Amino acid sequence: MSVRVRYAPSPTGMQHIGGVRTALFNYFFARANNGTFILRVEDTDQERSTDEALQDLYDTLAWLGVKWDEGPLVGGPHGPYIQSERFSIYQEYAEKLVADGKAYRCYCTPQRLETLREEQVAAKSKQQGYDRHCRNLGESERHALEQAGTPSVIRLKVPLEGKTTFHDVLMGDITRRNDDVSPDPVLLKSDGFPTYHLANVIDDHMMGITHIMRAQEWIPSGPLHILLYEAFGWEPPMYCHLPMVMGKDGQKLSKRHGSTSVRDFREKGYLPEALINYVSMVGWSYDGEREFFRPDELCELFSLEKISKAPGIFDYKKLDWYNGMYIRQKSDEELATLLMPYMVRSGFMAPDAGPQEFARIVSLVPLVKERLKVLGDIVDMTRFLFTDIEAPAPEELLPKKQDAATTLEALRRALVIITGMQGSEDAVVEERLGAIAEELGIKLNGVFMPIRVAVTGSQVSPPLLDSIRLLGLDKTVARLERAISILQNEVA
Ligand code: GLU
Ligand code: ZN
Repeated sequence: MSVRVRYAPSPTGMQHIGGVRTALFNYFFARANNGTFILRVEDTDQERSTDEALQDLYDTLAWLGVKWDEGPLVGGPHGPYIQSERFSIYQEYAEKLVADGKAYRCYCTPQRLETLREEQVAAKSKQQGYDRHCRNLGESERHALEQAGTPSVIRLKVPLEGKTTFHDVLMGDITRRNDDVSPDPVLLKSDGFPTYHLANVIDDHMMGITHIMRAQEWIPSGPLHILLYEAFGWEPPMYCHLPMVMGKDGQKLSKRHGSTSVRDFREKGYLPEALINYVSMVGWSYDGEREFFRPDELCELFSLEKISKAPGIFDYKKLDWYNGMYIRQKSDEELATLLMPYMVRSGFMAPDAGPQEFARIVSLVPLVKERLKVLGDIVDMTRFLFTDIEAPAPEELLPKKQDAATTLEALRRALVIITGMQGSEDAVVEERLGAIAEELGIKLNGVFMPIRVAVTGSQVSPPLLDSIRLLGLDKTVARLERAISILQNEVA
C-alpha cells in the first residue's frame, strides 16, 4: 500500500505555526515513504474563508519549500482539490445515504431548533442537541413536507446503541458510546453546503488517503467520522492525531505568546530551514539527541513512531537559537541576498540597487553574521551607516555610574586618537583608547560605550573600529564632536 496523506487546512486565517507543523509532518511522512502528499482546501465555511488566507497558504508552503504532489494549482487524478468546487459530489453522496436509510431529511425550522435548545437549557436536561424529531417521520408526513417545498437538511442516523472505536497510532484505541456522539449531526445544509464532517470523510475516501495526521483537537470528531465510513461502507484510513503546540504556560499557542503566523516569522527574518527544523522538533524527535536536521534529511528520517504523545512546547528563544545557527551557515553572498530586502524596505537602499550596493552588503556581512538572530536585526545594526542618526540624549551617552564630566573628558581624548587613527592597526588604536580608561581611572566600557553610542546611535552594532571604518572618518568625527557638545551643555 503506498502512503497517501494530506494537509487539509481551512483558509480562514494566516497559516499558523501549529497548522504548518501538521503540513510538515504529513509532507515528511509522505517523502520518507515514497508516498504522495496532497493539499486540499477545506473552504466549506464560505463566510470565514478568504482569498487572502488562501494566498497565504500557497505563499507559506512555497516559502517553506513544501511541494504538494496533488492539489490546487498542480491538479491530480482526484481533483478538484478545493472543496467549494466539489459540492455536487457531497450532495450526491448525502442523497445516497438517505436512499440507503443511513441518513434522513430533517425539516425542522431554525425556530423549532432554537426553542428546543432553550427548553433543554431551562430544564437542565441531560439530552442536549437535536431530538431526532424527523428521524421517524411517517411516509405521508414526509411526502407532504416535500410537496410543500419545505427546506430540509440531511442528518446522519447515529446508531442509538452500541459503541464506536477508532484506533489511533499514537493514542491507541479511542472508544465512545454512540449516544455520546452528537445526536444525528447535519451532513448537508439546506442550501446544499456540506458540513466539515461530510466533506472531510468523502474526500479522504475518494482521494485514497491512507493516514490522517491532524491535530489532537480533532479527536472528538473521530467516532463520528468512523460512523460515516461505516454508513458509506468504506474502510477508514489510519489515524495519527498530533500533539498540540503549546506556549510555555501550557496553553494552546496563541498571539498572547508572540508571533504565531508563519508570515510574521518570515517578515522578521527567520529562515525557512530554521523554522522547519525547530517546528519539527516540537513533538517529534529522531533519537532524543540530535537537534539539527535539514529539510531533505527530515524527508528521509521522519517516522510516525517518534512522534510524542505529550503536547509540544513552542520556545521562541530556542527558535532564535536555531535561526542564528542557520544564518551562520550561509555564505556572505547568500546572506547578503537575504538581507537586501530589509535594506530596501527600511529605505537604506533603493529597490533597484545594483552590484555596488550589493557588494557593500557583502562586505558588511562578516561583521554582523555572529550577532544576527533574525535577518531583520540588520536594520538596527546598520542604521548608522545609512541614515543621519538622531542626536543621542545626554543620558544615553553615560555608562552606568559614570558622570557627564568624566564621560566628556573620555570622549575628548578619544576624539584626538580617532582623528589620527588613519594608517594605524586596529589593535594599536584599541590600546590607545584603552589607555584613556586607565588615565581616568574608569572601566574600559566607560570609554567604548559612549563612543559607540555617539557614532552608531546604539549599544549594539558591529565591532567599534569596523563600524568607524565603514562609516568613514569624517562622519565619525562629526558625530563624536556632536556628542561632545551635548555633554558640554550637561556639564556647563
Ligand atoms: N479543515 C480542517 C482543519 O482546518 C481539517 C481537519 C482534518 O485534517 O481533518 O483543521
Ligand atoms: Zn427535524
